[in-house]
Amino acid sequence: MFKKILIANRGEIALRIQRACRELGVKSVVVYSEADRDAKYVKLADEAVCIGPAPSAQSYLSMPAIIATAEVTDAEAIHPGYGFLSENADFAERVERSGFTFIGPTPDNIRTMGDKVAAKQAMIKAGVPCVPGSDGALPDDPKEIVRIARTVGYPVIIKAAGGGGGRGMRVVHTEAALVNAVQMTKAEAGAAFGNPQVYMEKFLEHPRHVEIQVLADGFKNAVWLGERDCSMQRRHQKIIEEAPAPGIPRRLIERVGDRCAAACKKMGYRGAGTFEFLYENGEFYFIEMNTRVQVEHPVTELVTGIDIVQMQIRIAAGEKLPFTQRNITMRGHSIECRINAEDPVKFIPSPGRITMWHPPGGPGVRVDSHAYTNYFVPPNYDSMIGKIIVHGDTREQALARMRIALSETVVEGIQTNIPLHRELMADAKFIEGGTDIHYLESWMSQHKR
Ligand code: ADP
Repeated sequence: MFKKILIANRGEIALRIQRACRELGVKSVVVYSEADRDAKYVKLADEAVCIGPAPSAQSYLSMPAIIATAEVTDAEAIHPGYGFLSENADFAERVERSGFTFIGPTPDNIRTMGDKVAAKQAMIKAGVPCVPGSDGALPDDPKEIVRIARTVGYPVIIKAAGGGGGRGMRVVHTEAALVNAVQMTKAEAGAAFGNPQVYMEKFLEHPRHVEIQVLADGFKNAVWLGERDCSMQRRHQKIIEEAPAPGIPRRLIERVGDRCAAACKKMGYRGAGTFEFLYENGEFYFIEMNTRVQVEHPVTELVTGIDIVQMQIRIAAGEKLPFTQRNITMRGHSIECRINAEDPVKFIPSPGRITMWHPPGGPGVRVDSHAYTNYFVPPNYDSMIGKIIVHGDTREQALARMRIALSETVVEGIQTNIPLHRELMADAKFIEGGTDIHYLESWMSQHKR
């Protein structure tokens, strides 16, 4: 096991990684920007090093600053968390070339999955079901594009190979709009992602977002840890996640889960990862793979009892998986609400000083947050200030526990989306389970609050 790990991230995930290190008996170094000087994990850290001013480009995205800090603090490995440099293959490569261990997949794994055309081709080869569409990038010839769309069938969606974060996509309903839409998406993709390649998929009208968590050790051992339903989204941003996905037959989940684990073995995948799918009419369609820990990993931890962040570290240290698929069992139901510092109706960010922070507690309640009374939420980063996660024997019990947890939570001084979560936990359709990815936005347009 490593003696010391550098945490190249901020916010709740920096604290989460720090806790995993403590349990493993590993010392941790946190890097922070000037805006995060007073963060909880900075105060709790074994060592903390300021690496630059508030803007991410000069701090959390600065590869030289992070690698130099690992040098001077004698850290052996770097955990990138999520966001920032976590899916940057060049960073993983530079970390390894500088003699440190990157806690994550190989640069090759990251690079393949970061190119969605390459990722989809790898999945087709590995027998993972994908959304029907163009085989690879679209050609330049307009006649050929029209022909492909006719075989796929309208509506179609044009997506950038290098896209991410819900950007670089365009839905096309008619042939008349097709060629122009492809050209516009290409131009935007070239400017935004430095890669003008685009591909085409059938646009699914009412899918759910269901993803499979995997762990692989690079020795051709791989398991999947059940699924998560992340269909409650606004502008492609997830706000509520749960495990398991309500109402989907187990045999369908098992089939797709086994395919994901097999794909990991085939790719020689190493570390934690997530296969994201759209699920519609009993079918799973792969959309992308995330090669890092995800915000919503705790719901999987609560139903499986497996600490995903500790497993990432143990795998990076060269350990083999301590279990096989047969050892993995799932118990009960877990739900996560992301708490954002924002106006609950207009969604305008609401940074500033938290004058009162009172997190919930009780049976089956977990709070992952770096916030505290008197903490100043900086305006420079993502608005998420924490997550409330509950576990119960059944979905009903988990829902009841989430309602109680939300009713206990007090955050003053800034606005948060807690009132929105309270309403959603009382919504009949959400309680029924199985809402699609458009549900939250249509709910908001009908509930003029
Ligand atoms: P990103 O990397 O930008 O998140 P994804 O490929 O994961 O891109 O897609 C983001 C979201 O876009 C999905 O969660 C879904 O809401 C929508 N989407 C993507 N592909 C399709 C499709 N073929 N049909 C319908 N919706 C889609």
